[in-house]
Amino acid sequence: MNSQYQITHEVFLNCACLVIGSGPGGLTTAKKLVEAGKDVILIEEGDFIKTQDSQKFKNYKKINSLWRNGGITTSFGKTSILYAEGSSVGGGAEINSGIMQKVSSQILENWVQNNDIKQLTKEELDVYYDKILNLINPTEPKSHASSEILLNAAKKLGWKSEALKIAYDQNGNKNSVSKIMVDDLLQKGLRLFSNIKAQKIKYENGQASEVECLSLEKHRVTIKFENLFLAAGAIYSPFLLLKSGIKKSVGKTLQFHPTLKVGALFDHKINDNPATVPGAAITEFMPDIRIGGSVFTKGFLGMFLSEDWKKRSWMFSLSDYCGIYYAMIKPEGKARIFKLPFLPDPVVFVSLEKKDKELLQKALDELTKAVFAAGAKFVYPSIFGHEGFAKYENVSISNFKNLNLMTIHAFSSLPMGENDFCPVDSFGKLKGFKNVMVCDASIIPSAPGTNPQATIMALVERNMDFFLQRQTS
Ligand SMILES: Cc1cc2nc3c(=O)[nH]c(=O)nc-3n(C[C@H](O)[C@H](O)[C@H](O)COP(=O)(O)OP(=O)(O)OC[C@H]3O[C@@H](n4cnc5c(N)ncnc54)[C@H](O)[C@@H]3O)c2cc1C
Repeated sequence: MNSQYQITHEVFLNCACLVIGSGPGGLTTAKKLVEAGKDVILIEEGDFIKTQDSQKFKNYKKINSLWRNGGITTSFGKTSILYAEGSSVGGGAEINSGIMQKVSSQILENWVQNNDIKQLTKEELDVYYDKILNLINPTEPKSHASSEILLNAAKKLGWKSEALKIAYDQNGNKNSVSKIMVDDLLQKGLRLFSNIKAQKIKYENGQASEVECLSLEKHRVTIKFENLFLAAGAIYSPFLLLKSGIKKSVGKTLQFHPTLKVGALFDHKINDNPATVPGAAITEFMPDIRIGGSVFTKGFLGMFLSEDWKKRSWMFSLSDYCGIYYAMIKPEGKARIFKLPFLPDPVVFVSLEKKDKELLQKALDELTKAVFAAGAKFVYPSIFGHEGFAKYENVSISNFKNLNLMTIHAFSSLPMGENDFCPVDSFGKLKGFKNVMVCDASIIPSAPGTNPQATIMALVERNMDFFLQRQTS
């Protein structure tokens, strides 16, 4: 453990600003507050492991210490979706691929109109995107055989593709948000407590006053504050509100990017860089569908094959020749977060709309077409019981229960805007409260169809500017 403080007794703390959660949203919030001279406590449920150290961990150790629930959590519903989240200082950005993307102007316009968001224009948001991208300084990774597959497929099929920028330097070192921000913030006076979990917010008449927390060693920690900034992520921020009895419109509009995969065998080695995602994506069908490549270390390939080990295990011995490619969709369907009695964690119910199923069908078809166009010799779609195929054919998803969907993108559980279904206003403030801001993926108005980290950070930067302006006026 590498925490700034270790809690060994019951304690009572005071601060001007309490930030809960240290992912891209929480760290951006803490940075804005500390740089404005505020007295800030940041608490994080997970451990604090420096990115430079965790990058050297073996996979199982990384998964145990940086991922929530040892890697994967299941949702419920007719078609369930497995989802992954980070849980350590840095949140999801400690484990993510760091692909940095902006939302399209069309999506932004839809958000503004549908949610009735005030004072949010493309030009203004671009200023915040630029700030974030300057801070993270993403670079185009060197081209690898796995990226060439996507680029070749797009070329052969006459589709649009794009080189991606990722939060790594040219030597393959990750520029995580924690690496970029934490040491500097600690020097400037941030009090960071890792291994502390917020349990309940106390409030009266729209004024939140303290948060009850529990340390890893089960000591009670009570923190009083003037302003509260909720950044526990798209599932745990609404869950904490529900646990605290704050329910209006909370957690009913969660969205994911449902993602399906294929495992593809090639006749040449494609694993020259299996631990980093291919640095290219097929963008022909965006924003509805994006086709990309996954990490495919032996562990990840093993996980994919184990969906139907009896049929697929033969591929494992050919792992140097195998890649995992994916298609993610921008859905209409929403998921709901529940707090059930006696359960310490949230339960998520997903529902896919008819249009989402049609998109998934199309996504699988186009993805299969792409890998065969790039020379795949055998392909398994992530459908349980599927025999796989040796040449392109249109796979019909006859039973969505057999489709293995997963996602690493969650958002929109507390969407911002003036409309009634939005629990957070146009500037990130929780409605009905004078001193609570929501500062993470929850506020994204709806599924962006692009990787969300840059958008989370840009929206939070913007909202924090409004917060700080309100404080001085
Ligand atoms: C494997 C993976 C790959 C991804 N790849 C990309 C990518 O390439 N590009 C991209 O843009 N996005 C990617 N994402 C998504 C991106 O990482 C997330 O959207 C982003 O991290 C969300 O930021 P956040 O601040 O909303 O929440 P999080 O990053 O989830 O951070 C929330 C933090 O709050 C903590 N917390 C929760 N509850 C409490 C509590 N009660 N008390 C104290 N602390 C609490 C959690 O432990 C967590 O550390 C990926 C995600 C994953 C999992």
